[in-house]
Amino acid sequence: MARHLDSVCQICRREGMKLYLKGARCESPKCAIERRDTPPGMHNRRGKLSEYGVRLREKQKLKRFYGVLEKQFRRYFAIASRSPENTGEALLSIMERRLDNVVHRLGFAPSRAGARQLVTHGHVLVNGKFCNVPSILLRAGDKVAVKNREHSVKLVKLNQQSHPQPIPDFLEITGSEPPEGRLTRLPSRTDVDPRLAKDDQLQEQLIIEFCSR
Ligand code: SF4
Repeated sequence: MARHLDSVCQICRREGMKLYLKGARCESPKCAIERRDTPPGMHNRRGKLSEYGVRLREKQKLKRFYGVLEKQFRRYFAIASRSPENTGEALLSIMERRLDNVVHRLGFAPSRAGARQLVTHGHVLVNGKFCNVPSILLRAGDKVAVKNREHSVKLVKLNQQSHPQPIPDFLEITGSEPPEGRLTRLPSRTDVDPRLAKDDQLQEQLIIEFCSR
């Protein structure tokens, strides 16, 4: 998979907002955007954006928050536009149903990147079966558990203790030895990570307009 090799804080600075890509550091005074809220690069003034630019930035913000690349994002958009629901809400629901997002929001990992690593390194089971694909989309009732192996459990418990976080309504913790959780229902617009959706920061309508051009 393609990876972003520069500092991920540059992504937040480009979008002009915290995208919480680094776990604990994002909440600390060391957060790069708290210290230098300018776009990366030499020509780092934020000018007025065109209509196209506003929509592009909105799409990039969503993709980058969830750690999704363009090709996969376009696939999610195609699925969302075929859905009978509102396309924007369906798209956000898909993002929230990704396995790496669920692992993060259950509190098993401090960030989505950390959750992706937990999955690819084989620490996670889905419905009792080994799964190392962080992009799979979970369904209502699916169970996500940590492998019953000493170092997997230890790692996740350490994450839970050092980065406690509220569990969203569409998820529930069903066990602690080893840690496990469940999707009680499909996520809706109100279940989107509040760090992204707070203060009307996220305008999915602009993303739909961009992708439907
Ligand atoms: Fe870096 Fe996290 Fe701050 Fe973003 S929110 S600039 S990833 S420390």
